[in-house]
Amino acid sequence: MKKCTNCGSEAYRAESRFCKTCGGALPEREEAPNINICTNAGCGQHTAKFIYPNETHFCDICGSKTAFAG
Ligand SMILES: [Zn+2]
Ligand SMILES: [Zn+2]
Repeated sequence: MKKCTNCGSEAYRAESRFCKTCGGALPEREEAPNINICTNAGCGQHTAKFIYPNETHFCDICGSKTAFAG
């Protein structure tokens, strides 16, 4: 889950880029992943057990973007 570094609000979608509460820019990615995993929380690949290579931009199971898709 993304968290606003400005006001501390959370519960944003992974796609959110700006805070709903203060309008501040949100971090580019969720806090934890500097690992390349599927961004679909309902996907079995959305776990640190399944880390894709850095150049992989889409999950091969569900087709969602990976964390490094940009
Ligand atoms: Zn905020
Ligand atoms: Zn997936």
